[in-house]
Amino acid sequence: MTTATAFSFIDSHAHLNLLPEGYESSQTLSRAMDLGLVALVNVGTDIERSKESIAIARKFDNVFATVGLHPGEAHHWSDDLATELDLLAASEKVVAIGETGLDFAWPEPERETQFEALSGQIRIAVKYDLPLVIHARDAFTDLFRILKSHALPSRPGVFHCFTGDLDAAQKALDLGFYLSFSGIITFKNAGDLREVISQVPIDRILVETDCPYLAPVPHRGKTNEPAFIPDTLSVLIEKTGLPGDLVASTILQNTKDLFRIL
Ligand SMILES: [Zn+2]
Repeated sequence: MTTATAFSFIDSHAHLNLLPEGYESSQTLSRAMDLGLVALVNVGTDIERSKESIAIARKFDNVFATVGLHPGEAHHWSDDLATELDLLAASEKVVAIGETGLDFAWPEPERETQFEALSGQIRIAVKYDLPLVIHARDAFTDLFRILKSHALPSRPGVFHCFTGDLDAAQKALDLGFYLSFSGIITFKNAGDLREVISQVPIDRILVETDCPYLAPVPHRGKTNEPAFIPDTLSVLIEKTGLPGDLVASTILQNTKDLFRIL
C-alpha cells in the first residue's frame, strides 16, 4: 500500500520508454490511473527517444509527447538533426520541445555546444509555439542569459525537476516558466528545496516523476514510476500549507494549460 491521496494528477515529465523490462506501458499507466493519473507527458531526449515518445503517445489517448535533445546529448546537434527535430515537432500529440537546457555537472558536452543546441531548440519552440521543457543543472546564470536573449513561445515552458534556489525560482517565474517538482522534494536532505516550494505561487507548480529516475520516499532505490506521484504530491501540498484539493486541482489545471491538453 502507498500513502496515496485521492487527487487527480498529470505526470508532467516521464520516460516510459526508458523503464526496464517488466514495465509494460499499459500496465504502468493503469497502476497510476488507479491512483489518480489522468494524463502523462512522455519526454524525448534525442531523436530516437523522441520518436519513441510519439509512438507511445499514439497508443494511449492520455499520453502526450515532447521532442528534443537533452543537453547531455548536445554534441549530436547539427543542421540535419535540427531539421529532423523540426519535422517531429509538427507531429500529432507533440506538446512541447525538450528536454533541452544546460547541464554543467560534467565537462562534456562543451558549453558552447550546449548553447547552440539550446538556442536551436528555442527557435523550433517559437516556430510551432510549443512550450520548452528545460533541464538545468549548475548552469542557471548562462541559462537565464540565453533565455533572455531569445524570443520565447507564448507559454515559455517548464523548468523540469526543479532543484534551484529561491533566486533561480524567481527568475524562472519572472520569465513566465512553470516549475515542476520531482521525487527529490521528498528526500531527507532536500530541506532547502522544500522551503523554496512554500515561496512559489501554486498556479506555477507542476509535478513529475522523471521516471525511471528519482523514486520518491518511501520508494527510494526502486525504479520510479507514475504510480509514485501521490507521494511527491503530498509533500508539495504540505509545503504550500494550503488545502490539498485546491493545490492538486490547481497543479492539474496548470499542466493542462501549459501543454494545452485535455
Ligand atoms: Zn527527464
